[in-house]
Amino acid sequence: MDLNEKTVFITAAAQGIGLASVQAFVAAGAKVVATDINAEMLKQLEGTKGVTTRLLNVLDKAAVNEAIAESGHIHVLFNCAGIVHNGTILEMQDDDLEFALDLNVRAQIRTIRAVLPQMLERGDGSIINMATVASSVKCVPNRAAYSISKAAVIGLTKSVAADYVGKGIRVNAIAPGTVESPSLHERWEATGDFEGARKAFIARQPIGRIAEPGEIADLAVYIACATYTTGQVHVIDGGWTG
Ligand code: NAD
Repeated sequence: MDLNEKTVFITAAAQGIGLASVQAFVAAGAKVVATDINAEMLKQLEGTKGVTTRLLNVLDKAAVNEAIAESGHIHVLFNCAGIVHNGTILEMQDDDLEFALDLNVRAQIRTIRAVLPQMLERGDGSIINMATVASSVKCVPNRAAYSISKAAVIGLTKSVAADYVGKGIRVNAIAPGTVESPSLHERWEATGDFEGARKAFIARQPIGRIAEPGEIADLAVYIACATYTTGQVHVIDGGWTG
């Protein structure tokens, strides 16, 4: 598929993998609607050729519906927004799980329900949902709320893929290992031993390093163009589960 002039709608586009994806899709010739809850961070994208920025909280159903309705024909939806909670099932607070389900799963359901009717009308659409290997793919300790919610992303992906496979709609998930991002650095800081946490995370990756956001963004562009893949979890984890 040629992305030239196609519109890509990205959530959580102001930093990390989302921001790198804006840049990768634009480089591939697409027009991008870059959305995020952080107005200040979105400003860095203002004026970038091919990019329209829009303030959007994916927890707000009415705002999601409005943003998608006002974005014209959307060919690719990249659901990138998500949050990591640390802790075992005994440490997990009910509120943490509720929030993880809302931001990591229900937000994707909201955007998919908003965009699917127009994709079905055209018989054309690619939906990419951000999961992680710390889900139904791999046992990762200390990630109860995160793994529960991201496993649900994989179920969501497969369900929507199965229902619309004959109607021109492809739905795939991306499952990264560990990726350099501002929130990853915040999590390392929060351990009180940034360097020790960094080394421990690198040690998990057989490839010997953490992924760059652009490497995950390249996979998102590939999936958007790879017209024979649907219902798949595309693992990109430096050999962690290999
Ligand atoms: P990040 O966590 O550093 O940035 C998250 C972005 O989401 C920020 O720009 C923030 O403003 C935005 N955001 C937060 N709440 C929002 C809301 N309610 N509505 C809209 N935007 C909101 O970025 P990242 O680490 O690249 O993570 C992006 C996605 O990739 C997440 O779904 C995460 O679970 C997933 N992921 C990350 C890693 C990693 O190691 N970084 C690994 C696997 C999967």
